[in-house]
Amino acid sequence: MRKYTGKSVYGSVVIGKVSLPKRRTLAVKRIRVEDIQAEKQRLEEAKRISVLQLCEIYRRALDKVGEANAQIFEIHIMLVDDEDYIESVYSILESQGVNAEYAVAVTADNFAQMFAAMEDSYMRARAADVRDISNRLIANLMGNPPDIPMPESGNVVCAQDIAPSELILLDTDRVSAFIAAQGSSNSHAAILARNMNIPVIFGAGEEFLSEIKDGDNIIVDGFTGEIFLEPDIHTGALYLEKQIMHGERRRLLTELKGKENVTLDGRKINICANIGTLDNIGEVLLNDAGGIGLFRTESICFGRNEYPTEEQQLAVYRRVIESMAGKRVIIRTLDMDSDKSADYFTFKREENPAPGYRGIRVSLERPELFKIQLRALFRASVFGRLGIVFPMITSVKELSEVLDICERIKRELKEQSINYSENVEIGIMIETPAAALISDSLAPMVDFFCIGTNDLIQYTLVCDRQELDMKKYFDPHHEAVMRLIEMSAENAHKNSAWVGICGELAADTSLTEAFIRMGIDELSVEPSMVLKMRDTVRKLNLFI
Ligand code: PEP
Ligand code: MG
Repeated sequence: MRKYTGKSVYGSVVIGKVSLPKRRTLAVKRIRVEDIQAEKQRLEEAKRISVLQLCEIYRRALDKVGEANAQIFEIHIMLVDDEDYIESVYSILESQGVNAEYAVAVTADNFAQMFAAMEDSYMRARAADVRDISNRLIANLMGNPPDIPMPESGNVVCAQDIAPSELILLDTDRVSAFIAAQGSSNSHAAILARNMNIPVIFGAGEEFLSEIKDGDNIIVDGFTGEIFLEPDIHTGALYLEKQIMHGERRRLLTELKGKENVTLDGRKINICANIGTLDNIGEVLLNDAGGIGLFRTESICFGRNEYPTEEQQLAVYRRVIESMAGKRVIIRTLDMDSDKSADYFTFKREENPAPGYRGIRVSLERPELFKIQLRALFRASVFGRLGIVFPMITSVKELSEVLDICERIKRELKEQSINYSENVEIGIMIETPAAALISDSLAPMVDFFCIGTNDLIQYTLVCDRQELDMKKYFDPHHEAVMRLIEMSAENAHKNSAWVGICGELAADTSLTEAFIRMGIDELSVEPSMVLKMRDTVRKLNLFI
């Protein structure tokens, strides 16, 4: 057995056989031509055909991945006619007296290199788009439409890379997974792949590609990005079990997708999903969550050398909000602490970081960083329905300070004529006993509460949530915890605020009935638990 790892953008397990598609290589020759005008006409005709093909791909993408994601092909259609791009092709045609195929190939290389050298990872990934449309133009200039990587046998297609247009045209009845040796999880292909309902793994490496052959046995774990070639019996059995579990989830999906979260006696509750990175969005959409109940933003700080800029943060928040197409997205401001930190966030060493310097305390002490995040969030609010939630609140004074900063940021944006939505909902995490106990004073100041039971339990019962030895004291059902939740829910409702639970306890189906009885308006759980929760809610009858 050999094991490889790539970056997966969709969680599912596939056990199957390798298929290496035979792709036509576009060997572009440099040919000297006399009649440049005729080359320009050929180019115009290839552009016309390419646009027609892309319109058809856009139509298919609408069906497969929805409007927000299909927009990628609108961008491709615009790229085919991009002024700078076409000017560059013309200038090569005229200055070198060569064929259109060659001029397009050189332009593609230059543009792709230019994008690949950019600092911003999103822009870097645009190199793949330029190559995709350029290959299409070249194929059409040569009189053949671009081919699609189609398996002749096996169901796990493995290739060097995959272009967005190829991905949309994949026949997912025959292809169960796709593995690319290269590729980036920021690429448009990756964005589409998140919504294709099959595991697509990027960056499996050249070594992987060089070692596989048609018909090899393969297991693809789309949850972890792991790939097992010629798996041993133990791994095979383990994954068979994992696949069965996933099958159960799929059954729920078929039965419950699009259905309401309503009890037999007619009580409704929102069931949303928690996410930590953009990579989780495909799962959120697939599992038909009612929105995102908690986006933990700490991940934007990891894996980089400096704090993300306003524009970089805006790009992330915008992507999440747009992907949810009008469903509510609750984004939490940074909840950093000395345990969950990044190099540029220097923290004083604390003996016991949990009850220490974290959450809103860090944001309020570093107003310049807090302001960047809030500006990005308010700017992103025009792209859908946004709620902002503040972590670790313990006092009215702290919350007043936060609300003042929000007002200042909005004024500043207005003065700079930068748009933001007036409908952004403002909420706080209720994850400290202090916040729950003064929830009657906090509720009139906000639109909603998110009850963070993970921390609420650890602070109420005095047991570190990460300490295994404390497990016996970490009793999520403890009367004290239940009372704090109920108290917070009552105080929220008395003050016209809504209340959700977004800690792990939200997914405890033995408590779903109690939570609905308390009047909890929203439960936000891991994406894979959304339908299980819906199933539970739909079987409850609170009338009897
Ligand atoms: C919680 O404390 O319950 C919560 C949702 O926040 P986190 O798990 O990120 O601390
Ligand atoms: Mg918490």
